[in-house]
Amino acid sequence: MKTRVSGPFVLPVRDIVRKPGEMREHRIVVPAPERWGEGIVSVEKGRELDLDVRLESVHEGILVTGDVETVYEGVCGRCLRDLAERVEVEFQELFEYPGQEAADFEVQDDHVDLENLVRDALVLALPFQPVCQPDCPGLDPNTGERLAESSGAAQQAPVDPRWAALQEFTDPNGSAR
Ligand SMILES: [Zn+2]
Repeated sequence: MKTRVSGPFVLPVRDIVRKPGEMREHRIVVPAPERWGEGIVSVEKGRELDLDVRLESVHEGILVTGDVETVYEGVCGRCLRDLAERVEVEFQELFEYPGQEAADFEVQDDHVDLENLVRDALVLALPFQPVCQPDCPGLDPNTGERLAESSGAAQQAPVDPRWAALQEFTDPNGSAR
């Protein structure tokens, strides 16, 4: 019997293949094999991924349901402060038995490989505009300094560059404040 390469995301299904109704559960901790995510936050290589997975044998294949929990790192999109946040995301996919048409996810011999499934679920869950806190005031548009935590009163909202021209237009003297 041929043995394929196995990796940390490979789970055996030999004992439940073609036995609809059978189920196995796995709890595994796997290091991220590489940096996942192209944005300003990502899951760093080696970061522990906490996986809870249920494998259910169904007529068409193995239904994989689970969740992954880990930490992403990067910087706040407004103030550029370093941040690290926990993220937990659920996933589900049917790994089909090999048939005439190739499926995106297939049962391979006696195992399923969850790497692509887990990576895609996690990468999609990473925020495009991460913030260190919901009301992060960001940077001062004039000085580039980090603005103080919102203390109220004198603080001006940073001007979106797209509106700056409009503001000049409506306020030609720039002295209305
Ligand atoms: Zn921030």
